Amino acid sequence: MRILLVEDDASLGRTIQSWLQLDGYAVDWLDHGDLADAALRTHDYQCLVLDRGLPGASGDAILAALRARSEPLPVLLITARDALADRIEGLDLGADDYLVKPFDLEELSARIRAALRRGAATVAPVLLRHGAVALDPAAKRVTLDGVPVPLTAREFTVLQTLMRRSGQVFSRAQLEEALYGWGEEVESNAIEVHISNLRKKLGARFITTVRNHGYGLAPA
Ligand code: CA
Repeated sequence: MRILLVEDDASLGRTIQSWLQLDGYAVDWLDHGDLADAALRTHDYQCLVLDRGLPGASGDAILAALRARSEPLPVLLITARDALADRIEGLDLGADDYLVKPFDLEELSARIRAALRRGAATVAPVLLRHGAVALDPAAKRVTLDGVPVPLTAREFTVLQTLMRRSGQVFSRAQLEEALYGWGEEVESNAIEVHISNLRKKLGARFITTVRNHGYGLAPA
């Protein structure tokens, strides 16, 4: 899961980025509004966390441009302005949700999970299931036939990416996009290693390799 964070307050931006990385997301952080559009066109994000008051293009302008392209990307607006009129304005511009500073980081995580559920192809259930495997995004827990399976943070993210769109085949590049933000070193065989570990833990046939295309879940 890759998130774009646009926030010009350096201390808040750093705090949110570290928090969401610990939560298992790849997080690209920009501190200037004019850089957002290029990033949104270049990368495959699952959620945009957007400050309203920014140098350069405002959060509202970024959101309006995104929605004008009919991009369904879930957007969580954050702002210091707490007047009712501002909130209504933000939602009318096409934001999915709204957080007023200062906010609790746990609440930010919960709102992002909710936004990701709405952003899935069909409205995703709280608990993702495929065959005998169940994945709980909030508790970061995976079970096989009801028995907890310990996964690393990266393995969890790969599995969650595959389970959110269980009929889809993901290329290695798409999985890398979901795992690594800017400036994070990507080992050339990292995805193969995570897939191999997931197969050891969940069964060799749980994930299929589609030659020259990538990986997907075997039909349940
Ligand atoms: Ca700001």
